[in-house]
Amino acid sequence: MKNLVIIGAGMAAGRLVEHVSEAGGWNITLFNAEPRGTYNRIMLSPVLSGEKTYEEIVTHDASFYEEHGVACRFGERVTNIDRAAKTVTGENGTVPYDKLVIATGSDPFMIPLPGHDLEGVIAYRDLEDTERMMGLGEGHKAVVIGGGLLGLEAAAGMHARGVDVTVVHLMGHLMERQLDEAAGYLLRKELVGRGMKVLCSSNSQEILGEDGKVNALKLDNGTELPCDLLVMAVGIRPCVALAKEAGLAVGRGVHVDAQMITSDEDVLAIGECVEFDGAVFGLVAPLYDQAKVAAKTIAGEEAAFINRETATKLKVTGVDLFSAGDFAEGEDREDIVFRDPSRGVYKRLILQDNQLIGAVMYGDTADGSWFHGLIKDKTDISEMRDTLIFGPAFQGGGALDPMAAVAALPADAEICGCNGICKGQITEAIEGGATSLDAVRAETKASGSCGTCTGLVEQLLAVTLGDEFELPTAQPVCKCTDLRA
Ligand SMILES: Cc1cc2nc3c(=O)[nH]c(=O)nc-3n(C[C@H](O)[C@H](O)[C@H](O)COP(=O)(O)OP(=O)(O)OC[C@H]3O[C@@H](n4cnc5c(N)ncnc54)[C@H](O)[C@@H]3O)c2cc1C
Repeated sequence: MKNLVIIGAGMAAGRLVEHVSEAGGWNITLFNAEPRGTYNRIMLSPVLSGEKTYEEIVTHDASFYEEHGVACRFGERVTNIDRAAKTVTGENGTVPYDKLVIATGSDPFMIPLPGHDLEGVIAYRDLEDTERMMGLGEGHKAVVIGGGLLGLEAAAGMHARGVDVTVVHLMGHLMERQLDEAAGYLLRKELVGRGMKVLCSSNSQEILGEDGKVNALKLDNGTELPCDLLVMAVGIRPCVALAKEAGLAVGRGVHVDAQMITSDEDVLAIGECVEFDGAVFGLVAPLYDQAKVAAKTIAGEEAAFINRETATKLKVTGVDLFSAGDFAEGEDREDIVFRDPSRGVYKRLILQDNQLIGAVMYGDTADGSWFHGLIKDKTDISEMRDTLIFGPAFQGGGALDPMAAVAALPADAEICGCNGICKGQITEAIEGGATSLDAVRAETKASGSCGTCTGLVEQLLAVTLGDEFELPTAQPVCKCTDLRA
C-alpha cells in the first residue's frame, strides 16, 4: 500500500481521513501539533460555557484510528517537508510519503501591542485556550479584544462562568462583517443586558502587567481595564510557514487548484491553510467540501472544489442571529426590513434585480436556511416579494404552522450548512430507519457540527415519522445520565 501523510488533525483532516479510509488503499500517518486527534473545534464555545464537555466534542477517538489503521503522531509538530526525497520530518522522526496533505489550519493573529507577550494574554483557538478561560470564575476579570464571532463566544462563555467580562471592539458595532448596524445594536443590547460590558469604537494601546503577568488593558483614551486574563480574538492567518519553507507556491494561503493540489502534484492542501482562487476560509462548510474533493483526487477520481456561499450563526445560547450573502448598501439594491423592537426581532433582506442577495436576521432566525437557499439558487423572488420577509410559512396565502412550513421545503433546501446536507438526504435517511436525532446525525452528519440546525432536523423527523416521533422536550445533560437540564 502507498503512504499518505497528513499534517494537522483538525476538522478538515478529520473528514479527509474518513473519506480516504472508506475508499481504502492507503497507509495513513496523521501528525498533529496538538496532543490529540480530531475534535469539533466549533464546539469549544459550548465547552467553555459549560454546556458540553470536551469528551462530547471528540469526533475521532482512539478506537476510530485503530479501526482504520491510522498511525497517529499526536503532540508532534512537523518541522520539515523534503519534496525531493518525499519525506516529512516531525519532532520524533522522518516518514516517507507518496502523497502528502497539508492541513495545518490557521494561526490566531496577535496584535503586537506592548505587553502582548505577558503571561495571561491568550488567543481563542484550541482546547488549551478554552481551559485557560475555564480556569477563571467568579471574582475574576477578563478582557476580550475583538467583538467578532469568536470574541463574543469567548466573552459569553466566560460570563456564563461568573467572570466579569469586558469586550473591546475597534469598530462602531459588533460583528460588523456579518451584521449591519441595527442588528449589531440589538446584539450589543442583549449582551449588556446580560451583564457584560461592551466597548465599541475603542482602540487598545498597551497591555499592562506586573511580575510578567497581565493585569490590565490600557485604551488610547487612557482608560485602564483591569483583568486576570486577556483574550485576543481579532482574526486568523492561514498557517503556511511549513509549506513556504518547502518551496510551495504560497500567497495568503497555500495555493491550490480545484482538485486541492498545490504547486507540487504529490502535495495537496485543505482547510484554513489554503488559498483557492483568491479566497481564504474561516468556516467549516467549505473545508468539508475540500476534504471530499482531496480524497477523490488521492483516489485518482475526478472532482472539483466549488467555493459555495456560507451563512454565519453565533453560538451563544439565547442569541439568535443569522447572516448570509452581501448586505452592503448600493444604489441598485433595495431593502425589505421588519422590526419588532419589543420582541427584539429584526430582519433585513437585500434585493438586487429581483433576487435575494443578502439576509441579516436577529431574534428570529428560523427561516435562515430558506433565505440562504434563495440566495444560493438566485431565485427570482418577484412573485413572493410582498410576503418574502415573513418566510416560507407565508408563501401562497396565510401562515402555515411551522411543521407545515418545514414539510413544504423542497428536497434540495439546505438544512445543515456546515455539512451541506439537504432536506432530501435527511428524509431519505429517516425513511431508511434513522428515526432519532442521533441516528440522523450518524447517517448524514446533519446537525453534528455547530448544531444550530438541530431544531430543523427534529422538525423533519416529526414531519416524516408523524406520531411515531416525539419532539424531545429537554436533552439529557450528557449521555451518561438521564438527568435533564
Ligand atoms: C472557538 C471557535 C469557534 C468556531 N465556531 C465556528 C462555527 O460556528 N462555524 C464554523 O463554520 N466555523 C467555526 N470555527 C472555525 C472552524 O473551527 C475552523 O474553520 C476549522 O476548525 C478549520 O479546520 P482546519 O482543519 O483547517 O484547521 P484546524 O481545525 O485548526 O486544524 C489544524 C491542525 O493542524 C495542526 N498543525 C498546525 N501546524 C502543524 C505542524 N507543523 N505539524 C503538525 N500539526 C500542525 C494544529 O495543531 C491543528 O490541530 C470556530 C473556530 C473556533 C476556534
